Amino acid sequence: TTPLVEIKQLKKYFPVKKGILGTKKSFVKAVDDVSFSIKKGETFGLVGESGCGKSTTGRLLTRLLEPSDGEIYFENNKLSELNEEQLRRIRKDFQMIFQDPYASLNPRMKVKNIINEPLIIHGYDKKKSLSRVKELLEVVGLNSYHAERYPHEFSGGQRQRIGIARALAVNPKLIIADEPVSALDVSIQAQILNLLKRLQKEFDLTYLFIAHDLSVVEHISDRVGVMYLGKIVEIADKTELYKNPQHPYTKSLLSAVPIPNPKLKRERIVLKGDIPSPANPPNGCTFHTRCPFAMEICKKSVPEFTKIGVGHYAACHLINE
Ligand code: SF4
Ligand code: MG
Repeated sequence: TTPLVEIKQLKKYFPVKKGILGTKKSFVKAVDDVSFSIKKGETFGLVGESGCGKSTTGRLLTRLLEPSDGEIYFENNKLSELNEEQLRRIRKDFQMIFQDPYASLNPRMKVKNIINEPLIIHGYDKKKSLSRVKELLEVVGLNSYHAERYPHEFSGGQRQRIGIARALAVNPKLIIADEPVSALDVSIQAQILNLLKRLQKEFDLTYLFIAHDLSVVEHISDRVGVMYLGKIVEIADKTELYKNPQHPYTKSLLSAVPIPNPKLKRERIVLKGDIPSPANPPNGCTFHTRCPFAMEICKKSVPEFTKIGVGHYAACHLINE
């Protein structure tokens, strides 16, 4: 299938001032040479610890942020070459769902106006919008009379349903879900993930699903990319990644995921130290300061992204050994 989205060597560097007088200019490489594509109708999971650049990648996609370098293609259109009007139309095709549904819903607005907002922005017929809002509420498992209520009258899971209804309002093609269930109770998480799966089928949606937790991503993703310090270190089909992880960072993340079958016990890999500052990333493989398998070469030489199998790539010197 053709990719809906293609990201090529995407970079986002944020300038920071260093030194006592704040005169030395340096950069936080939030997203550093990231490439991947998302096929129509699939869910691409993007995983990594907080600060690894996954949310920034999502925001670059929606053009909430301008990339420093690299290119994004949407249905083969180069986003950087589109004019304002074309970009506006494409923005409608990209909608976001956020981690904290409470923070992303205006507490002073009635649910109907919250869901209506994107419809108004994108010039939909106002007269038809209330019936559309009610329909959307039912689609996400709420009731049409909820339209007259305020966000505080709902539970966390219900609020996330409202956020999803708002994202669906303008019939998007791609939904970028940034940690959509991280703030919810485990029992509610499964409900929201199942809802997202159902909506994907019903409305032909493609998802970029961002999470710090590999177990959440496992339920919903077709393919997964693992990010560390602004870079993708491994990419694979979900089943392949969970069965045959190659990058030590992926292995450590997976070793923290509880497995229902105790016979399949994975060896726990505990990483030393914290993630280094992205303003001052280590040389060579940026993971070498925490990697239990680090070798001399890892301190000097950046490992190349290497093909391991069909659709499976990882950047680690161990692979070429
Ligand atoms: Fe570890 Fe070296 Fe592989 Fe980096 S390149 S993940 S430091 S073994
Ligand atoms: Mg984030």
